[in-house]
Amino acid sequence: MTLSLLEKAALLGLTGRELLQLFEVDQRYADDSVFASAGAVARFRRWDAAGRPPADLERLEFVGDDRVHASLSDTLRSLPAAVATHAVGGVLWVEIGRSAIGWACEMPAPPHPEGDRLHLIAISGSVSDEALPGLIGHELAHSWHRHVSPVSSRQTGSVSDAEWTQRCLKVMSTAELAHHRIAGERLADRTAEAWGLHIATAHSSDEVRLADFRAEIAAVAGSDGGTR
Ligand SMILES: [Zn+2]
Repeated sequence: MTLSLLEKAALLGLTGRELLQLFEVDQRYADDSVFASAGAVARFRRWDAAGRPPADLERLEFVGDDRVHASLSDTLRSLPAAVATHAVGGVLWVEIGRSAIGWACEMPAPPHPEGDRLHLIAISGSVSDEALPGLIGHELAHSWHRHVSPVSSRQTGSVSDAEWTQRCLKVMSTAELAHHRIAGERLADRTAEAWGLHIATAHSSDEVRLADFRAEIAAVAGSDGGTR
């Protein structure tokens, strides 16, 4: 779905003139992928209503290797401010695999995003320094686009991923479900690219993803859905 500029402005709670001013401030907001979900629109509107604060990187909650931490900070600093604000105020970040294959620590003080669940993003430190920003951007894009909900999934007793997949398969074909999943992956890639972060992993081809999903769906369809 492609929106006209005025439709996009209305969605974001802006006038047409304000939308163009936003694009002048940071042209990356103009890419269609950036506001292609209800979650992204809601997160932008919350940042806008708060007076468009710059992201406070001092508040970033990260557990993992120091060099990966530095790369994450640099990457977030490079992002559009609304996105970086979400990455700091709405996400708890963990890394494993760069300098330790396991670690134990006290739970860091998690951010408390207003009216939204806290997100968790895990990144593998085993990827190269060059590939880290793209990986961070891809996972952050999933989080940016995730629907906003003030109620945690634990409170609602929501279904597991496997159960969700099984339920989907009752109303759509495997091919249709795979198509939906791949569309989500492509959106994350396109959004990260729009932010200036380039994906360089073997997982970014549709063929690889399709094979992964088919294997996952086949495993879920053949199980009782009790595991992830
Ligand atoms: Zn993904």
